[in-house]
Amino acid sequence: MTSPLEAIVAEHGTPCYVYLMDDIRDRIAQVRATFGDRFAISYAVKSNPNPDLLRRLREQVDTLDVSSGGELELALATGWEPARVTFTGPAKRAPELAAAASHSIGEVVVESVREAEALDDEAARRGVRQPILIRVSPAKLAPGFGIRMAGRASQFGVDEEELDDATARIAALPHLRLDGFHIYSGTQCLRPTSLADNLSNFIEIFRRAAATHDLEPVKLVFGAGFGVPYFEDDVPLDLSIVAAAVNPALDRLRSEPRFRSTVFVLETGRYLVSEAGIYLTRVISRKRSRGTEFAICDGGLNHHITACGHLGSVIHRNYRMFKLGAEESPAEPVPHDLVGPLCTAIDTLGRGVLLPPLEVGDVVGVRSSGAYGLTASPVHFIRHPPAKEILVEGGVAQPASSSVSSRL
Ligand SMILES: *Cc1c(COP(=O)(O)O)cnc(C)c1O
Repeated sequence: MTSPLEAIVAEHGTPCYVYLMDDIRDRIAQVRATFGDRFAISYAVKSNPNPDLLRRLREQVDTLDVSSGGELELALATGWEPARVTFTGPAKRAPELAAAASHSIGEVVVESVREAEALDDEAARRGVRQPILIRVSPAKLAPGFGIRMAGRASQFGVDEEELDDATARIAALPHLRLDGFHIYSGTQCLRPTSLADNLSNFIEIFRRAAATHDLEPVKLVFGAGFGVPYFEDDVPLDLSIVAAAVNPALDRLRSEPRFRSTVFVLETGRYLVSEAGIYLTRVISRKRSRGTEFAICDGGLNHHITACGHLGSVIHRNYRMFKLGAEESPAEPVPHDLVGPLCTAIDTLGRGVLLPPLEVGDVVGVRSSGAYGLTASPVHFIRHPPAKEILVEGGVAQPASSSVSSRL
């Protein structure tokens, strides 16, 4: 019997990404249920901006966070109402701020006083009052975050130590409406206690800032930082432990009059989509070199920089991989170095990966590939074709529009 992935490869070929939409739906439902609907959910577009995925997420998540004017265009082109879009990013240019203000998007997440003043000018020119959140860079970040954006010098947001002064200045700008605060301080954390401590720290920061400036926030955004298992020995995150600590703290915040109608938003990308994605690549050539078995594939770094260890990792560890169809002819696994087609030694998907012996024509699947895949990768480098993207929904596989073409 051919498996669904084998059928996809037979019909659409390799290299390709497969996104399992039903898994994404289930994951979103699980997050909502675990936090007892205390949080609205914001999806970070940059984690996987596939246009067809974004269209489907309209019914699944509450808001979309974009990180550039290009992502804002993509959000609007895939049918998202501007009011359900927020815009984060440390270097928004004047035309991007102008686009945000002319569409009156949900909120611009301002990262500095300078940026707030520039946005105020753009809003004034258009005669609008643009809602904003202030992004805060916390003074501390719990341990256990694979990627850290606070608790140290950082280009992101207003440093917590300067928040009072910055908030006073930003709140005084006449063409902005201060809706609340936003924190995204680190990510790829698999330790529930660290995540709970971190989210509790956000609550303290939000509570203090709102009290100092006597605000009744419309919205508070909690950049979740939830990690996903990439490597063989990673233990998947137990979200119920995070929720057990955070839910009561959220309820206490909710019980305070100034937070009575505040929308609490959980912002995440990889946690929703990463494990629902598989990258499939075919062995084009084999070489045994000085005792090492190389399988040279039709895609690698050019499609999947993260699996090659060049996005946010210090040491390269192997993603979990499998040989397609291996269930039918189980063979003793042997170590392989899996490399891509590029003329550079950094094009290495995995070293010493234990798989049944690979032959030319075999297909290898890379798990946890639904986030920071194609669009994070140098797809133009050396001009190999980009990977196709296939969306599977209700057991039906369909080619999706490309994430990396400028045509939508
Ligand atoms: C990238 C990003 C996210 C999502 O991060 P994940 O690690 O994919 O969950 C959320 N919020 C902001 C502001 C981001 O820049």
